[in-house]
Amino acid sequence: MRVGIVGAGISGLAAARDLQQRGAKVVVFEKSRGPGGRCSTRRSNGFVWDTGATSIAPRGKAIERLMLNELPTDELIPVEKPIYLHRNLIPEAGDPSRTVPRYTYRNGMNTLPKLLADGIDMRPEVEIERISRAGEGYRIGGMHFDAIILTAPIPQTAALLWTLDESRPIASARYRSNLCIALGYDTPLPETPYFAILDPTQVHPMTWMSIESVKAPERAPAVVVQMSRQYSFDHYADSPNELIVDISRYVEALFGATYRVPAAADVMKWKYAQPDTTADFETVNPPGSRLIIAGDGVSAGRLEEAFDSGLRASQLLC
Ligand SMILES: Cc1cc2nc3c(=O)[nH]c(=O)nc-3n(C[C@H](O)[C@H](O)[C@H](O)COP(=O)(O)OP(=O)(O)OC[C@H]3O[C@@H](n4cnc5c(N)ncnc54)[C@H](O)[C@@H]3O)c2cc1C
Repeated sequence: MRVGIVGAGISGLAAARDLQQRGAKVVVFEKSRGPGGRCSTRRSNGFVWDTGATSIAPRGKAIERLMLNELPTDELIPVEKPIYLHRNLIPEAGDPSRTVPRYTYRNGMNTLPKLLADGIDMRPEVEIERISRAGEGYRIGGMHFDAIILTAPIPQTAALLWTLDESRPIASARYRSNLCIALGYDTPLPETPYFAILDPTQVHPMTWMSIESVKAPERAPAVVVQMSRQYSFDHYADSPNELIVDISRYVEALFGATYRVPAAADVMKWKYAQPDTTADFETVNPPGSRLIIAGDGVSAGRLEEAFDSGLRASQLLC
């Protein structure tokens, strides 16, 4: 069986590996330069920032076995410190019973998709704009496939479905946008009992800040800040410089004036960051489908769930 997969994020790569192990011929099309999607790492001037998924808490799901037992583990490290909650930038310990084992990769979370992509026929910098039917199968570009798996965020998948004049019950999957600001410093950051702080109420403009150099101690002093739903909506069009200056205020408020001006910075604008609500995998993909929709829009906005959706897609086909 020949399977074309749109998207080399965690779900597309999970499907690709599983299908390949079951004997299928797989081609993964990816519009970016490399694999990973929202499991992304930016690097600049010696700083390493995870600007998508910060870490992975596999919660006993299939990806845990793979990460711990099958993929190389030399870069894999447990995140030792917990996530604290913050109210108006005052951090306090959360409920320790809710703390789950969490991992990251020393040199960036996108080590995980790079490892998953090893041995996969991936075509980078190929944005699929149209899929057509060809007999019992499908055609992408000049290539014929017996089946297709779509793994982009649901609004992007919907655009591809239109080109096929195909509809699926996916309207319940809705994503929030997120502004994510990466800041690096010349001076080591103060010691903290946490690796990240979170305002789950989204009242404060800064919902999340992870300290990259606490999460992975070999990294240079750096933080990644994710802004609230409201802030991200209101400031989406702001320039990177405006965002960096504005958001540096919060780091200064936490750590002092030394951190008012970062030595390096980067801004990520995630239009489809994570789903607030999802569609149901089984309803979207009825038995016998040769066009499968996977990804976090039909599971949940976390890596281990996206991975599982890719496995489910593969198992529907083989
Ligand atoms: C800021 C942020 C923080 C997060 N933090 C965490 C966390 O700490 N822990 C956690 O578990 N999860 C976290 N998540 C969620 C997690 O990153 C996602 O749920 C997961 O990566 C989704 O994987 P996916 O394969 O479903 O989609 P994606 O990663 O989006 O992969 C889809 C791929 O399809 C490609 N694509 C799209 N359209 C096309 C096209 N037409 N042609 C070709 N290629 C196309 C895209 O470039 C992309 O690579 C976070 C997400 C964000 C944005």
